[in-house]
Amino acid sequence: PTKIAVMTSGGDSAGMNAAVRSVVKMAIFKGCHAYVIREGWEGLVRGNDEDQGSNPTPHEESLDAGPESLAQPRREGKAAKIKFVPTYGEGELLKEGVSEAETVGLKGRYIVRVGWDDVRGWLDAGGTLIGTARCAAFREQAGRLKAAHNLIKHGIDALAVCGGDGSLTGADRLRAEWPELIGMLKDNGDITQAQFERYAHLKIVGLVGSIDNDLAGTDLTIGAATALSRICEAVDSISSTAASHSRAFVVEVMGRHCGWLALMAGVATGADYCFIPEQPPHGSWDDAMCDVLTKHKKAGKRKTIVIVAEGAIDKDLNAIKADDIKKVLEDRLGLDTRVTTLGHTQRGGRPVASDRILATLQGVEAVEALLEAKPETPSYVITIRENQVTRTPLMEAVKQTQLVAHKIETKDFDGALALRDPEFDE
Ligand code: ATP
Repeated sequence: PTKIAVMTSGGDSAGMNAAVRSVVKMAIFKGCHAYVIREGWEGLVRGNDEDQGSNPTPHEESLDAGPESLAQPRREGKAAKIKFVPTYGEGELLKEGVSEAETVGLKGRYIVRVGWDDVRGWLDAGGTLIGTARCAAFREQAGRLKAAHNLIKHGIDALAVCGGDGSLTGADRLRAEWPELIGMLKDNGDITQAQFERYAHLKIVGLVGSIDNDLAGTDLTIGAATALSRICEAVDSISSTAASHSRAFVVEVMGRHCGWLALMAGVATGADYCFIPEQPPHGSWDDAMCDVLTKHKKAGKRKTIVIVAEGAIDKDLNAIKADDIKKVLEDRLGLDTRVTTLGHTQRGGRPVASDRILATLQGVEAVEALLEAKPETPSYVITIRENQVTRTPLMEAVKQTQLVAHKIETKDFDGALALRDPEFDE
C-alpha cells in the first residue's frame, strides 16, 4: 500500500492535531498506511535509531488489518494506542532519557506508523501532539539529504507538511532538490536502483498551520481563528478593567509581518485604534491617533484600547512599539496607560470549531492531492478561498508570501502594501 506521512513544523497552532488526525484517517480510509513524523523536519532528519529502524511500534501488527479495521472493535490493552507527548507552545525536543516518549516506546523513533485509534480524541487538543521544532539542519543540503534518505528507507511515498511559510519553504526546497538528492543517495550506495526509480518523484503537500494568517493564496490558515478568539477574550477582559479605571491599554498582538490578527481583533472588540504593518500611517502616527482618541474621549468613552501588531511600522517603515504608543498616550493625552503583550496565550489551547473544521476538510483534500499527484503536476498547498477548499501551487504561494516579507524587511513599498501580486489572484 501507499505510505503517507504527516508532520507538523514551525510554530504550533491550534488545529494542527485536527489536521494530523484528518490526514491519518483519510489515508487509512483510502487503503494507505499512515505515518507521523515527530518533531517536524528535525524528526525527519533524525529518522529512527538504527536498532529501532526495523522494529515495529508496539501495536504495529494490529494496524495491518487495513481499512477494514474501521469496522472492527477498538484495539484494547497496553499497546492499544500510542501515547504521544503533548507539546504546548513552541516545541522543544524531548530530552533523552527523561521523556514520556520512552515509556511509550518512541525513544529514538521519529517516524512512526499509526492507526485509526492513535488519533482518537485529537480534534479538540491544542498544540501539536506529535511535536514540532525549528530545525537548523534542514536548512542545509546535508540535512535534506538525510531527510530524503529517511523517507525512502521507510518507504514513505508521500508527505503532508502542516506548518507556516518557513516550513512550506522547506517543503518546496525538498521537492525542487529531490532529483539531485536521490541521485546523490544512489551514487553513495545508500539506495538501490529500484528505490531510485520507485521514489523518483517526491509527492508532497502543504497544509497551512499558522496563527498569523500570513500565507498568500489562502483566506485563512489553520489556527488563526483560534488565536483571534483568544485575543478577543483577552481584550474583553482588559476592557472591563480599563472602563472601571478610565484607563488606556495598548495591547500588542502577534502576527509577524501580517496585521490580520490585530485588525480583526480591532474590529471584533471595537478597539479605538489599530496599527498594522500593511498600512503604515501617511503622516505622523501620533497626531493621527491622538485626534481619534480625543474625539472618542469627547464623546464620553471611559476606556481606550489601542491594538498594535508586533510588526507595525510608521511612515518611514520603522517599528512602532507598544511602549512608544504608551508614551504618547501619557504625554499628550494624559491617559493612565498600561501595556499588555498577549504573547503565547494567543497560540495555545483548544481550537475553535472553525479551525477544527478547516483542518479536517483540508486534511482530506491533502490526501486526495497526494494520491492524485503526478510527476508533471506541481506540489500544492491546500488553501481556502471564498469558502472553497482548493489547491494552490506551493511554489507560487511561498514566493508571494516571501515577496511581502521581503518588501517590509527591505522597506520597499509606498503607502499601503499590496499584499500580493494581483495576477496571482486570477
Ligand atoms: P511560523 O509561521 O509559525 O513561525 P514557520 O513554519 O514559518 O512557522 P520557521 O521557523 O520559519 O516556522 O520554519 C520552520 C522550519 O522550516 C525551520 O526550522 C527549518 O527547518 C525549515 N525551513 C524554513 N525555511 C527554510 C528554508 N529556506 N530552507 C529549508 N528549510 C527551511
